[in-house]
Order: sequence, then C-alpha cells, then structure tokens
Amino acid sequence: SEERSLNFIEEIVEEDLRTGKHNRRVLTRFPPEPNGYLHIGHAKSICLNFGLAQKYGGATNLRFDDTNPVTEDTEYVESIKEDVRWLGFNWANELYASDYFDIIYSFALTLIRKGLAYVDDSTPEEIAAQKGTPTEPGTPSPYRDRSIEENVQLFEEMKDGKYPDGAKVLRAKIDLASPNMHMRDPIMYRIKHAHHHRTGDKWCIYPMYDFAHGQSDSIEEITHSLCTLEFIPHRPLYEWFIEQLEIFPSRQYEFARLNLNYTVMSKRKLLQLVNEGHVEGWDDPRMPTISGLRRRGYTPAAIRDFCERIGVAKRENIIDVSLLEFCIREDLNKTAWRRMAVLDPVKLVITNYPEGQTETLHGENNPEVEGGEGGRDIPFSRELYIEREDFMEVPPKKFFRLGPGLMVRLKHAYIVKCEDFVKDEAGNVTEIQCTYIPESKSGQDTSGINVKGTIHWISVPHAKTAEVRLYDRLFRVEDPANEDGDFKEYLNPDSLQIIQNAYIEDDLTTAVPGKGYQFIRKGYFTLDKHSTPEKLVFNRTVTLKDGWVK
Ligand code: ATP
Ligand code: MG
Ligand code: MG
Repeated sequence: SEERSLNFIEEIVEEDLRTGKHNRRVLTRFPPEPNGYLHIGHAKSICLNFGLAQKYGGATNLRFDDTNPVTEDTEYVESIKEDVRWLGFNWANELYASDYFDIIYSFALTLIRKGLAYVDDSTPEEIAAQKGTPTEPGTPSPYRDRSIEENVQLFEEMKDGKYPDGAKVLRAKIDLASPNMHMRDPIMYRIKHAHHHRTGDKWCIYPMYDFAHGQSDSIEEITHSLCTLEFIPHRPLYEWFIEQLEIFPSRQYEFARLNLNYTVMSKRKLLQLVNEGHVEGWDDPRMPTISGLRRRGYTPAAIRDFCERIGVAKRENIIDVSLLEFCIREDLNKTAWRRMAVLDPVKLVITNYPEGQTETLHGENNPEVEGGEGGRDIPFSRELYIEREDFMEVPPKKFFRLGPGLMVRLKHAYIVKCEDFVKDEAGNVTEIQCTYIPESKSGQDTSGINVKGTIHWISVPHAKTAEVRLYDRLFRVEDPANEDGDFKEYLNPDSLQIIQNAYIEDDLTTAVPGKGYQFIRKGYFTLDKHSTPEKLVFNRTVTLKDGWVK
C-alpha cells in the first residue's frame, strides 16, 4: 500500500501541508447519524478519514450527527463506537452535534442580525413552489422582508415552543435566482416537538443538516471534511454559511460512495429488513453491516484491505462483492487454523481395522506458517464419517475420491480402498466399506501407492456435533434498490441453509467467536455468538473458492 500513487484527497492534503494551510494540521471527522448500524459503506468512510489522519500525523473525531431527534437512538451510538473500535481505529474526541445546539442557535441569530436569515410562515408546499425550477428563478416568500427585530423575536418564540410543528421555519436569505437550488433560501431550522436522545426536551427547534454539519466541522476546526458525492451541490452553501459567520474555514471534499452488488446499503432499507423479520437483526451474518460481517467471521484486517483496494474515486461505481470475499480469504488463508468437519455425513467402515481400537494422529494447525503453529491430536478408529459427496456408486472418470474399487487418502491418516457399500430400501447409500493400507500412514508412508485425492473425515465415536450455517447472497439480483417494485421482492430465498447435525473435531469445542477456522475443503468458519457448549453453532464466513453460479 505504501507504493500506490496518492489518491486525489491525499494530493489535496499534501498540497495543504506544503502551503501551510490550517497551520499544517490534519483533523478529520467521521460523522455518523446514530439512526442505524454501520455498514461496509461506512467502513470505507472510516478507513478514509482515520487513515488520512494516521498517514499525515493528524487526528480524527468521532462525531455523532444527531440533529434529527426522531430517528436517533442510544443503542445506535453504542454499536457505532463498538464497530469503529473493532475496525482498529481510535478517535481523538467523542463528540455530538447536539452538544453544539446552543452555538448553532447563536449562529442563526448572528445571520438574522446581519439580515441574512428570516422566519417564514409559508407551508412546505408554498416554500417548494417559491424555490422555482432549475430553469426558472424562484419567487420571494411574502415573509422574506420581515425586519431584523421581528425575525429575532419570532425565532426566539419558535425556540420557546410557542408554535406547533411546521408552523414556521428559519430560512437563509441568499439568492432565489441561483442556478444552485440549495442556494435558493434554504431552510436552516424547523420546529419539531420531539424528545432527543441526548438533549431531552430542551429543544423544539432543530437545525437542518446544511446548517449543522459545516458549523460542527468549523467548531471542531476540522480541516478536511470528507463526504460523498451527493453533497457536491451543498458545497457552495457549506462555504456561504462559514463565510458569513466568519468562523473556522473547514473545507468539504467529496468522494464516491461505496456500492456493493447483491445487497442494499441504506440504513433505511436495512432497518426494514430488520423490522420486518427478513433477517435475524442488524448483525445477521447476511447483512452488509459491520456487525453482521463480524458475526459472519470477517476480520478488521480484511475489511481495511478491501477499503484500501477499492480506493478513493470521484465517480460512482458498483464494487463486486467477490472482491470483499477475496480479501477475507486472503486473510484467513494466512491465519485460520485447519480443522475437519463433515457437513453431510455418511459412514465409512474400515473392515480390516481392529474393532475397539483407537489411534491418535496429528495434524498441524496452519500449514501456511513455518512450524504449523503447533497442532492437535486427531483420533482415528474403525468407523468414520465422510462427506456423502465424496462417494459415488458409478463415478465418472477423474473422480479422485471413493467409488467401488477406488482409493483415496484420508487426511492426516491412511490410504483406503473402497471394497463395497450398503444401500437402504430407498436406494440411499448408508455405509461404505473400505480396507486400509497400514503402511500408508501420513508422514511415514512406505506403501509406494500414489493416490490423487485426499478427503476429510471424523471418527464416529469421537465426533462432536454442531449446527453449521451456510450463507448465500441476501439478494438474487445485483442492484435490488434499482429494480422495479419493492427491493424486498428480490431477496434470495436460499440465503441461509442450516445444517443441524454436522460432525466436527472435538478440539473445536474451544472455538470462540471471531477466531477463524478453515474446515478443510469446506470453507472458512467462525463460532456464532449464540453458540453454547450444549449446542455449538458455526457460521460459514466464505467458501474456499469463488463458487457462486448465477
Ligand atoms: P445511509 O444512506 O446508509 O443512511 P448516511 O450517509 O445517511 O448513510 P451517515 O450516518 O450520515 O449515513 O454516514 C456517516 C458517514 O459515512 C458520512 O460521512 C457518509 O458520507 C459516509 N457514508 C455513508 N454511506 C457510505 C457509503 N456507501 N460509502 C462511503 N461512505 C459512506
Ligand atoms: Mg448522513
Ligand atoms: Mg441516511
């Protein structure tokens, strides 16, 4: 990552540092609205803001953009803090836009006194009509020329709760003929008699985004305020307020938001999935939320790597979710301990292995690391479970697993040869009978026999059971938000497959959520947070290869 060329935001920062702007200081902020859990799109913003500050010796504030009392909640504040920390970042200050309500109110009075803001009694429909259209200028509100004294008095009355919701707003007095619709006397404050999660009932007027965000940036002396492209048309207003108020000149820069295919990425839509029970909660492992990815077994390193790889663009695009999967495979391949688990078991009996005998074999934890990071004992006996798909009654050519007369190696154990099999009345194979070659033990094989395939297995008397959850994409289409009708019509009905009775190595009873394991040949897994010692539950993080077929 050190070798890649600078992205356009880094170029701006380096230029600012060179010219001495902002006293050669970099202070960024991550400004979530606490109205939902963070998703992978937010992770991009987090990595960008915190990463920039880290790279240039600056700092980053975590600022809750909590100016809308109706949708915000303390539960979300806590989850956001947990997620940012988990991603590996530390904020300089934990701040709340609502802590600035007094200052922002005084900023509004300043603009009123400068003749740059007025109280408007027009209805929302009237205000919309007054704004005009992009090709035609707007028309002044009949209240636009109220005196400063009257505006001050009315605004104070708005604050004191004298008027019901919607009765009045405070508008900036800018330019009704501006080609930029945001400059046509935008609303600064609205009346909302609503309880706020932090300020309680102190306020019944709340500033709009455009009269809160830049002001908060300026109060904190943020140098580079990074936001997504849809805020480009807001920038002249951002700068106008700062100039008129003569406050610290924070600057806004815009980058392309992260879009990922086969999912939705707006908190409003994710909330619908939660509230309507389409998923188990915000941290359902199929969700694109940071908490969902964590529960699924994604690591902070993989998510940071993903954000670095997609980079910072000036144009919108949709990133293929397989890149995210690539990043977690890369990470877990290096770190995950290997274990065996049989998800769809059928019994294999080794007819020439003594009944009642057990021997202890050895398997390394991680073949990617010199020394294997230690290992574990694996019990072996006459009766094993293997994967049903590893046997075929009439195998095709190049089926290097088991079938009548075929040989295969059992991982960490012996070569076996299929001699016979048993079927039930319905025609299902219930038992595979093999002989083993005693001289073929892994690591000390003197048999001289070469077999192409290796399969995993679990000794029947030693097997532990677990529930295993396999996930697929949450939606069947690439961009559900842009399809006809409701996006929820495009949910993938097969996004979760639960295997009640998988057999796993005894050693996996020590697994903890977040520690990744490779179940060899089956993918990467982690323990689910609802797992109990009585009922172990594993989530598949990702398959070993990109095996998804449209
Ligand atoms: P949503 O549309 O999901 O509700 P939001 O922008 O309203 O997202 P905020 O809580 O306001 O959510 O976002 C906090 C920060 O994260 C903002 O600076 C926002 O620009 C950024 N952000 C949100 N979504 C994305 C995304 N998909 N890609 C990059 N940055 C994002
Ligand atoms: Mg927002
Ligand atoms: Mg939003």
